[in-house]
Amino acid sequence: NMIDLPVIDEQWIQILSKICRQITDRSKPRPRDIENRQQILNQLEKQFQKDYPDCNLYAFGSFYNGFGFSQSDLDVCLVFKDEREQNSDEVIRIMQRILRAMKSSSTFDEVQPVLQAKVPIIRTRHRQWNIAIDISLHNMLAIENTRLLKKYTEIDTRVSELGYMIKYLAKFCSIGDASRGTLSSYAYIIMLIHFLQQIQPPVLPVLQQLNDPTKKTSMYKKCSKWNVYFYEDLPKINDIWKGENKLLTGALWVEFLRFYTEQFNYEEHIVTIRQIEPLLKHEKGWLRQTIAIEDPFELSHNLAGGLSPRNWIMIRRVLIRSREQFGVKPENIDISNPDMSN
Ligand code: ATP
Ligand code: MG
Repeated sequence: NMIDLPVIDEQWIQILSKICRQITDRSKPRPRDIENRQQILNQLEKQFQKDYPDCNLYAFGSFYNGFGFSQSDLDVCLVFKDEREQNSDEVIRIMQRILRAMKSSSTFDEVQPVLQAKVPIIRTRHRQWNIAIDISLHNMLAIENTRLLKKYTEIDTRVSELGYMIKYLAKFCSIGDASRGTLSSYAYIIMLIHFLQQIQPPVLPVLQQLNDPTKKTSMYKKCSKWNVYFYEDLPKINDIWKGENKLLTGALWVEFLRFYTEQFNYEEHIVTIRQIEPLLKHEKGWLRQTIAIEDPFELSHNLAGGLSPRNWIMIRRVLIRSREQFGVKPENIDISNPDMSN
């Protein structure tokens, strides 16, 4: 079912690249957004330390992984220095105490527990700045995957630009909400990184398989029973990794859509970013007839596990339609439009 499309016009690719840049510039958090979130973080930490002097508050999620929108929520996680939070009775007690403290605070609104999520959270909203906040407990893997994604965005500026494109598309077409049976924005970002590792020549290395040849440090770092090692020495990455792919962002965007409409083998393969070699569905017993996406650290977790076949068809339709629309220059676009030409 290959679609025969005309050769992509060079000028159209340049326009498309500008669109990617503009969407990124308009979406990404401004200094003010970052300051506000930092203040909320400090405020919350102070409040929690009244009850639990040995706790720390960590921020994670899109605001810190390089793919945040100015209006994205603030994801924070409470971490204790000892291991007490492992016990589920203790977790409930802590959550209740936090809940009570938050409800009596005039700074936060709409405080409510969300227990059916994969990780139990307390959801609230900063009254004055209208910022949604999700508070979880001891969510160490999320802190690590936030750092991993951030590192990938630091290797090449095209990575976050493409990330904004896919998140924007997913939100615009209502295919980006895991709680409603589609895919999370995190899952789309994993799909993007997989593509950027697999394209020839690749745009990104596999950080979980990379090591400094002179140092040969351990490639194992344990966190909640999983290996969360990845290579993170950015100045050195630029020594041992020579990104040879020079395509413009717009061309990569069309290639991304082509990859997931024409090239990826959904029947047999799993989307993974921790190895360059193909990962087979039958190896893991993930045999459902939809896409399968492996979490980079929690290897038993299929990020598309909650995706229904019906919603998968919807997502595929969006990708196919986007590939058709973005792959050719629109008839009616005015290239002499000054807003587009510089
Ligand atoms: P945005 O809020 O802009 O839509 P996000 O990446 O912050 O994007 P959230 O749903 O708020 O998305 O998730 C926050 C973070 O939690 C993610 O960045 C990721 O680190 C982690 N996370 C979300 N979903 C999963 C998942 N299914 N498995 C593992 N970690 C996840
Ligand atoms: Mg978020």
